[in-house]
Amino acid sequence: MPYTTPKRVMCPFCGSKNTGKYVYGLPGPELFEVADKPNPAIIIGGCCIELSPRGMVDPSRHCHACNRDFGRPSKATYKEKGTLDLYLPCVEGANRIEFYVGGYPGSAYELVLTPDTLHLLASPDCGADLKLEKKLPCTERKFRSVVRGMFNRLFLADWQRRYEPEGFIVDGTYWALSVYLEHACRHLHFRGHCAFPPYYTQLLRLLRPLFHNNGLPFEGDDFDAPRRDIQEALSLNMPLDFLWKRPRKQP
Ligand SMILES: [Zn+2]
Repeated sequence: MPYTTPKRVMCPFCGSKNTGKYVYGLPGPELFEVADKPNPAIIIGGCCIELSPRGMVDPSRHCHACNRDFGRPSKATYKEKGTLDLYLPCVEGANRIEFYVGGYPGSAYELVLTPDTLHLLASPDCGADLKLEKKLPCTERKFRSVVRGMFNRLFLADWQRRYEPEGFIVDGTYWALSVYLEHACRHLHFRGHCAFPPYYTQLLRLLRPLFHNNGLPFEGDDFDAPRRDIQEALSLNMPLDFLWKRPRKQP
């Protein structure tokens, strides 16, 4: 059976693109040839997909640089009173996302997304005391596509819970991302202070349209409108999308 060489996706642990995709099932001879090369794009994963006692199926990818597996099906555990750990699928089970990013001194942006509502707050640091807020309706479909993007394309389930810089820093960018799951006692929290996961830029790229499509700026946008133009636009209740240009390089 012909196959296409899978794209080498970035490792969520170390950011290397020297990664390979596991292929399960009985491989054909040409697959063996590819998998035999050093740092192969295809790794032969075995004949059957193993379901471990913890309910984890085999991972989908491997990083040759840091030697770790990633891309496991995203499931969060929780304990049901004195019983075994139970598992919640993150993509289907999520019902609320919160994101915050702020610098000291500087801008701050906040987003709360549920299947029915999108709440946006923007305080860009562009020379005017702007505090912009919007509450908008959301749809299940839009909500689910953001969640799917986080877990399936950004490998959120493999992120560390906390990113800290090396050395001592008193100010700088703080960010936090929370995914709330249906089961009320279970949330996934990720945060960092002047330290970012390899997929941070992609996270901003995923969330940026939610701000831009609703006329608000977002983290990383460049402002060059004079303060007086901004205040005039505000007093006339004009759309503010002339304020920002393409994003700065992040982080
Ligand atoms: Zn790696």
